Amino acid sequence: MKVAFIGLGNMGAPMARNLLKAGHEVVAIDLNASAVAEVVSAGAQAGTLDTASQCPVVITMLQTGQQVASIYLGETGLLSRLEKGTLVIDSSTIDAATACRVHQEAETLSLDFVDAPVSGGTAGAAAGTLTFIVGGSEHAFSRAQGVLGAMGGNVFHAGGSGAGQVAKICNNMLLSVLMAGTCEALTLGMAHGLNAAVLSDIMKVSSGGNWVLEKYNPVPGVMDNTPASNGYQGGFTSQLMIKDLELAMAAAGAVSASVPMGGLARALYQMHNKKGNAGKDFSSLLALFEG
Ligand code: NAD
Repeated sequence: MKVAFIGLGNMGAPMARNLLKAGHEVVAIDLNASAVAEVVSAGAQAGTLDTASQCPVVITMLQTGQQVASIYLGETGLLSRLEKGTLVIDSSTIDAATACRVHQEAETLSLDFVDAPVSGGTAGAAAGTLTFIVGGSEHAFSRAQGVLGAMGGNVFHAGGSGAGQVAKICNNMLLSVLMAGTCEALTLGMAHGLNAAVLSDIMKVSSGGNWVLEKYNPVPGVMDNTPASNGYQGGFTSQLMIKDLELAMAAAGAVSASVPMGGLARALYQMHNKKGNAGKDFSSLLALFEG
């Protein structure tokens, strides 16, 4: 399958490499030439939005809904340049309303569109074990399963258009709460002289066990290959976490849902980011508690 991959950042680059490993042809597209060059060195060909319009499958992995809308929508947008029947997959985490707008325009143009945000972080992207949370028709979902399976371990059909984004936002709001709680507990233990690795091992198999302790410990040196052990670089930035928490607050507002824990996590990340940490991985929140 020839796949146009647009957005080769922390997540997109390893995802594109896994498509190559699975035998797909990849057309690599990004505003950042060095991001393109890296994926080209793994076997992709460099492309543009014009080249993308000749591919039967298009995947986007961008930061925001605004970026997704500006690539796809409008009279000169990419959707209007694709062949009928093209499968279009947006794996960015964005608001469900924008996903539904793209879906509607795609349907009008006889294209198959799914929103397919991911969970699993940069390590999951590199290992090809991401969880894809898909919204769209049964037909589009079944078409997308093969290509998504080359980049992930779990591919869920959450429901119709936009449902993938809603489920993803629920997950990330929970993740922000788990990260804040884990940072708080580890900082308390360390202040009492406990070794962070020993405390983590204890809590991991006790009732406080959670994904952060298992896969993404926020204390430098406790786990290999985590952003914390790499100067909080290369993971999921605190800026992106705030973006997701804003999306969660908007989703809660739309249905008058009460989300006090998510609201508190957002306030903590706002404080953390104002101290100059927006570009660091979200596990750097530990510093707020240590401070
Ligand atoms: P990133 O900033 O590292 O990558 C985004 C890439 O998109 C950049 O390389 C940028 O140059 C490119 N881009 C932006 N506008 C473009 C355009 N018009 N044309 C072509 N390329 C363009 O972001 P990321 O960390 O890879 O995250 C991407 C998405 O995945 C976000 O929505 C994020 O919330 C979500 N996500 C990230 C993680 C993570 O751990 N980083 C985990 C799950 C989900």
